[in-house]
Amino acid sequence: MKTGDVGLLTTTLDQALEWGRSNSLWPLTFGLACCAIEMMAIQASNLDISRFGSEIFRNSPRQSDLMIVSGTVTKKMAPRLRRIYDEMPYPKYVIAMGVCVIQGGPYNQGYSVVLGVDRVVPVDVYVPGCPPTPEALTHGIITLQKKIRNETDR
Ligand code: SF4
Repeated sequence: MKTGDVGLLTTTLDQALEWGRSNSLWPLTFGLACCAIEMMAIQASNLDISRFGSEIFRNSPRQSDLMIVSGTVTKKMAPRLRRIYDEMPYPKYVIAMGVCVIQGGPYNQGYSVVLGVDRVVPVDVYVPGCPPTPEALTHGIITLQKKIRNETDR
């Protein structure tokens, strides 16, 4: 840099807000079945989700902006799930984790199972698998961050 050159960073307010939101997603402590164990694993030291600003799993929907639906959603649970979602402040995001959540999975013939959580709440990112690995969920969170920042995979 020559004498007199000035380092200058320009951005828009929207871009700054998107950057901040994408790097501070706080998931809700909310697990429904076996996939929840894999969700918990993303906090362990080998994956360390705090690298992406999401280390704080909140116990209150009012302090969360990310719902990771992990585990079978039953018709009895669906209204509760929706109510918890409604209590989260905007902007809020949903990751559907596992085939049970995406389309009922191995229980899709069951009378009590919701055939896709997107019938209950809007879903931003789907993470397939039974169960998805913690690495797959980490990739889902990174995908959501890119979506918030309006980026595409290169
Ligand atoms: S997708 Fe598989 S691991 Fe996840 S809740 Fe359903 S049965 Fe359990």
